Amino acid sequence: MLTDLVKAGKVAEFVDLAPLTTYKVGGPARWLLDAETLTDLESLGPYPDPVVVIGRGSNLVVADEGFPGLVIRLGNGFSQITIGRDRVVAAGANAPLPAVARAAAKAAIGGFSWMVGVPGSVGGAVRMNAGCFGSDTAAMVNTVSVWDLRAGERVERSAGSLDYGYRTSNLAPHEVVIEASFSGSIGDPKDLEKEMRHITRWRRDHQPGGTHNAGSVFKNPVGDAAGRIIDDLGLKGTRVGNVSVSTKHANFFVAEPGATATDIRTLVDLVASTVYDRTGVRLVPEMVFVGFD
Ligand SMILES: Cc1cc2nc3c(=O)[nH]c(=O)nc-3n(C[C@H](O)[C@H](O)[C@H](O)COP(=O)(O)OP(=O)(O)OC[C@H]3O[C@@H](n4cnc5c(N)ncnc54)[C@H](O)[C@@H]3O)c2cc1C
Repeated sequence: MLTDLVKAGKVAEFVDLAPLTTYKVGGPARWLLDAETLTDLESLGPYPDPVVVIGRGSNLVVADEGFPGLVIRLGNGFSQITIGRDRVVAAGANAPLPAVARAAAKAAIGGFSWMVGVPGSVGGAVRMNAGCFGSDTAAMVNTVSVWDLRAGERVERSAGSLDYGYRTSNLAPHEVVIEASFSGSIGDPKDLEKEMRHITRWRRDHQPGGTHNAGSVFKNPVGDAAGRIIDDLGLKGTRVGNVSVSTKHANFFVAEPGATATDIRTLVDLVASTVYDRTGVRLVPEMVFVGFD
């Protein structure tokens, strides 16, 4: 139970979430469970209340007021990467995607190179159907092990049951991804290294590296790119408080020191409404907002 975990020092109270996200903004979690192993999730028992699982925080905007419920973060016990037979790669939900890409390349398994530039975790990718460079998580995932917080039990989900769409799955907030297995193709480690270097270079050239951001703010409309639309309207550099539309890539918003989550939310709404008013295109955020109404 939560109260027992607080007493045991496993759950901390009023923990600042800003450092756990790439935007570095937002308020505290009422409770934070650092789950090092499955036992920590098991000891929570069936948990019916609102929950947020945080991975690398690379697609999250946490409200300035924080989140009034339980936040769960997975630890090192969920970071393993295992190369199996038939080019199957199994990874814990806390494994960083770039590490999965490199482990697969070393084992001569292709198809994972796109992960090298996505600074998220396996759990976040499985939930969000992360992807780029013509591939995504849905194209590679076989099975997903989930800890169902409401039932307090482990459930195995097949890829087909996740109802994947563009940056969506049907995984609910109470379903914690703990592990996933992926299938790759035959690859040559040298070629895969080259491919990853190319992807890394492309990102360095086209995206605002070294800044506080959460990757693409909006999903791309069918047949178009959100960044192109925003750029064409001359909105690069548009600013609310200490957050601005990147001058390097218009679908990235960059948070500077002193930025708030409200600045981000207001800029998202401003850009979306400007785009709608001037083009009729409704941009839909890709980022996940936590603790907002
Ligand atoms: C510079 C930069 C570039 C990026 N480029 C891309 C890109 O090319 N393509 C792309 O798709 N994304 C991109 N992203 C966004 C982000 O990295 C991905 O969406 C990533 O998959 C999010 O993983 P995360 O661990 O950071 O998840 P978080 O941001 O922590 O969480 C995202 C969502 O996943 C849920 N979640 C996290 N872990 C789990 C878990 N174990 N179980 C269940 N749910 C979980 C959260 O509750 C939340 O709903 C980029 C981000 C940055 C900062």
